[in-house]
Amino acid sequence: MHPPVVPGDPPAVVRIPTGEERRASRQRLDRARAAHWGWKARRGRIASLLGTLLLVPLTAACRERAPAVHTFSTIHMDTVVEVTLVDAERQRAESLAHEVFAVFARIEAEMSRYQAASTVSAINARAGGPDWTPISPALETVLRESLRIAALSGGAFDPTLAEVNRLWAFDEGGHIPDPQALAAAVSHADWHALQIAAGQARLTKAGSGIDLGGIAKGYAVDAAADLLVARGVSGAIVKAGGDMRLIGHRPNGGPWRIGVQHPRNPDGLLEVFRTTDCAVASSGDYERYFVVDGVRYHHIIVPTTGLPAMGCQGVTVVTDRAMTADGLATAAFVLGPEAGLDLLRRAGAREAIVVDRSGVVHHLAHTTDDAPPAVRPPG
Ligand code: AMP
Ligand code: MG
Repeated sequence: MHPPVVPGDPPAVVRIPTGEERRASRQRLDRARAAHWGWKARRGRIASLLGTLLLVPLTAACRERAPAVHTFSTIHMDTVVEVTLVDAERQRAESLAHEVFAVFARIEAEMSRYQAASTVSAINARAGGPDWTPISPALETVLRESLRIAALSGGAFDPTLAEVNRLWAFDEGGHIPDPQALAAAVSHADWHALQIAAGQARLTKAGSGIDLGGIAKGYAVDAAADLLVARGVSGAIVKAGGDMRLIGHRPNGGPWRIGVQHPRNPDGLLEVFRTTDCAVASSGDYERYFVVDGVRYHHIIVPTTGLPAMGCQGVTVVTDRAMTADGLATAAFVLGPEAGLDLLRRAGAREAIVVDRSGVVHHLAHTTDDAPPAVRPPG
């Protein structure tokens, strides 16, 4: 699959890596690891910097009088994480990329429901019991934002769908769950059961479990982007799956150009716009799905039924923070175009592009003049 081509500077494309692309990325990483270990062995040394093995430079363009751009990618949270840095000298770019990937590793180790030693797994293991689990300020931020978006969306966003999601097993390719098991899991999921006190959390309902797949990537993108801003970078993109943060200017100045992927045409763009210093998040039914009897079963679930949401093909949201954009995009996808756009308007999103089930594209129409979209058409 080739990236879409647009005249002029290529835009950063908001597209969620497909299973095939994630596999290709993994293979590239494996080859880089093998080459690195081989090199280390030849030098007769024990490889020590695991982080180095996880870095794969994708591009390192340096034109005369044009600022250098360095892009590195790796896999975290079961998706492709990419950092692009403008104007940094190669060694500094690589060291910043290491820092960014370390941020992702730390957040994944804490918030993944797949890692037995994570804090989320500890909370889930105690679901229904009286005990609280200590949580870090980072996890507290994500859990509180999850509950805020759950309330704002009338429960369309539900951070307690772990058991429902486990039954669909989209991380392993996916299959239709047993209806009785699914009904039981749906009855156990309930965001009201997630209680947060200062520095601790618990689930009051047995059988419920936290799954932050719809929001934690966005938080990690924010944490990484905040780190780069603190390091003083002049231009950067941090991207994880369909979520990204844009910082400063692109090479040669000016805001970044963002291409929004067409949900049914992997080589096509719905539209291109310019923006910067904001977050863009996409949710789509083209990322993790399987088809049975012509029905596309995908990983964004209606909490009340346990079935995939069928109202949209894709939702892209622009806000200040990637965590918020990530959660809102998932929530709006579940709600469908009309209620979804209403949610995004109420939540104060800067801009949104919703592709409904028939492929019709809807935009967020701001109703007041004092909230103009920060997004301008390319030009
Ligand atoms: P995203 O790609 O950000 O839309 O998130 C999709 C992921 O969020 C899924 O793989 C699940 O882990 C989780 N998820 C699915 N449905 C929901 C929902 N209704 N509310 C919150 N998280 C969900
Ligand atoms: Mg999301």
